Parts: sequence; C-alpha cells; structure tokens
Amino acid sequence: MSNQEWITRGEAVFAGTYSRFPAAIVRGEGCRLWDADGKEYLDFLAGIAVCSLGHCHPAVTEAVCNQAKKLLHVSNLFYTEPQTELAELLTQHSFAERVFMCNSGAEANEAAIKLARIYSSGAGRYEVISLSGSFHGRTLATVAATGQPKFHKGFEPLPAGFVHAGFGEPQEIEKLISSKTCAVLCEPLQGESGVRPLAPEYLRAIRNLCDRHGLLLIFDEVQTGIGRTGSLFAYEQCGVVPDIMTLAKALANGLPIGAMLTRTKIAAAFTPGTHASTFGGNPVAAAAGVAVLKTMLADGFFADLHERSAYFIQRLEELAQNFPQLCAGVRGRGMLLGLVLTDKGIEHGPAIVRQMFDRGLLINFAGMQALRFIPPLTVSKEEIDTVIAGLREVLAKLV
Ligand SMILES: *Cc1c(COP(=O)(O)O)cnc(C)c1O
Repeated sequence: MSNQEWITRGEAVFAGTYSRFPAAIVRGEGCRLWDADGKEYLDFLAGIAVCSLGHCHPAVTEAVCNQAKKLLHVSNLFYTEPQTELAELLTQHSFAERVFMCNSGAEANEAAIKLARIYSSGAGRYEVISLSGSFHGRTLATVAATGQPKFHKGFEPLPAGFVHAGFGEPQEIEKLISSKTCAVLCEPLQGESGVRPLAPEYLRAIRNLCDRHGLLLIFDEVQTGIGRTGSLFAYEQCGVVPDIMTLAKALANGLPIGAMLTRTKIAAAFTPGTHASTFGGNPVAAAAGVAVLKTMLADGFFADLHERSAYFIQRLEELAQNFPQLCAGVRGRGMLLGLVLTDKGIEHGPAIVRQMFDRGLLINFAGMQALRFIPPLTVSKEEIDTVIAGLREVLAKLV
C-alpha cells in the first residue's frame, strides 16, 4: 500500500477535523520516521512534543511489552504497580504530593478546573482566569478556558465561568479578579500560540496575585513538562511553584496518559465519587511513564540537553540574522523553540513547512507566528545541522 492509497482510504472515512501532511507513517526510530513509500523524515515535531525520548525508545518499548504481557487494564477499582510507581516518581520529583491520572492533556486540565471549583465551592467561587493566546484543550470546558476565539467559534454557548486576561501584564489579570474567582490557569510557556515564554517576573507577579487573593495557581505543563524546556518541569526554571500542575504529552513517550498533580490539602477536596476516569493511569501507559521518568532522571540527561539546546538556539539565531526580511528572532527554552517570522515571513509560513516536508524535514508553524521546533530531546547536533541547512535553502528561495 502506497501513501496515496492510505490517503484515499482515510479521506473516505475520517471526520474532517485534521489537515494532515500527505504521508502515511509506518515506522519510527529515534528522530527518524518512514512513510509507506519508504521516504525518510527527520522529525522535529515528535508527535507534537510527545515522543521526547525519540520514536520507539528501547526502555519504553520494553516496559510496554512486558506490561502488555502481564496486565492491560483493570480500571481504578484496583491498585496497580505501574500507576503507583509513576505517581511516586512524579511526587518525589515535583512540588506535588498527590496525583490524579487520566488520558490526555484536556482531561488533566478538566480535572484541575473541577478540583479548583470543588475546593472553592464553599466560598461560592468558581471562575477561572486564563490568558489570551493560551491553549488548554478541546473539551468544552478547556475550549472555554483557551484564550483564542478561533477555537470557540461555532461551539457556543460555552460553559460559564471562564474569563481571559490580556497577555503579559499582571494588572490585566488583577482587573478580572472578583469574589467569584477561584483560580488562575496558565502555561509557563505558550506552545501552540507561537512559542511565547512567560517572563519569570510575570509569573512571579501572577503567583503573588493568587496569594493575595486566595486563588489557586494552575500551571498547564501539558506541553512544557517532562523535560521539554530543559528541566523535568518548566516551573522549576522560573522560581514559581503552582498549586496544581497538569501533564500529558511526553509523559509516556507516545501512549495516551495525563496527570493532574497537587498538594494534599487541595487534593482533599476530591473524595470518592467526585471525579474519575475508566482508563486513567492505565497499567501499560503508566509503565511507559515510569520508563520515561527513569530515563530522564538518569545522570547527565539534562546537562547534555542544555548543551544541544544552546547549540540549536545559536544556529537558529544565525539563520534569523541571515534572513532579517523573513525572521524576527528566536524564542523558547530547551527543545521547545520558535523561529519568529516577520509579517513577510508569516505569509510564507505554511509554504515553508510544506517545502521542509518535501525535503523530509518535519516542523510546523505555530500560532501563525513562529516556525516551531520540538524534536525528540535526544536530537543530535548533526540532526540539528541538517534541519538548519534545509531551512536555509528554503528561506533563500523566498528572498
Ligand atoms: C496539547 C495541549 C493540551 C491538550 O492536550 P490533549 O492531549 O490534546 O488533550 C493542553 N494544553 C497544552 C498546553 C497543550 O499543549
């Protein structure tokens, strides 16, 4: 079966929610993918910041295969070994003491919103403030929390209890705080809307506001968490500790899992029956998560990542300087990097991504602002050089 045959069959049966690259991917290894026609790709998308240890990482594959031979699923009516081990690792290496597991980022944010509401229900507070440009998921509540009107269109009426503050100014948030507010929800670095980091001072000011007004601070680390920004969690680098943190994407290197983490006092608002998930923390996904965390927590993992991240940033900055008509600068941390385009560059954003694809180089265009690079954290300098060289050729044709 060729790419074209898979595309034709897929187009005949799928709901039209995606505009996909014209390729059926059949195999992956490290930073490489292969399609049904045998074409090889260098993957700087990693399943949208999911396969952070690279495709089919041996430790993850082994953990998945071993667990699949023992037990696939029993539901949360029971305790299982992998879910317990994963929750222990997450709490040992973060501010959190308690974990609720689910299957995706949107579900982790739903759990966080529900927890913030039930925790604050005695005081009659329920409203969540999030930021413009944010992305929190595609369920109705997380769409309502998402601060981008394009995701709301056609789905109104949205659930009540969500307001959005302008990006970048703590006063914008303060203006919206009322007797109804229960929490502020934000990403330490906005990935989807064009790789926009929140300045550490801004995050500290938000923490301060939450403390002064008795609000919970929720960090959506679905994209930034699990090593992506150069530390296990992004909050560690900005000197601000949230009350609730959500995780998903890279947590199991490709199997569906999500988690909502918090402290014991806050978690106590959830009692048996208040919230649940049939599949959440499934043994196979959790076993993969344990393998991911053990691999990242091994000596030298982050030191080595910092070195390659600095190299990548430097190469992108050179490129930005060489093409000032198209590139406005470089943003991001760790292996969540964006080459911000100028107005002229933005016009060509989708075409640049497509021409990179034709060369077997996978990147995307985030938030109609920046070319986004989210390779496996294990990406080599040679692989970085290959993508930079491809990008240089593509940009050179546009000036
Ligand atoms: C991807 C993402 C989500 C949604 O995760 P899903 O697993 O697609 O539900 C939520 N928040 C952020 C910051 C994300 O990047």
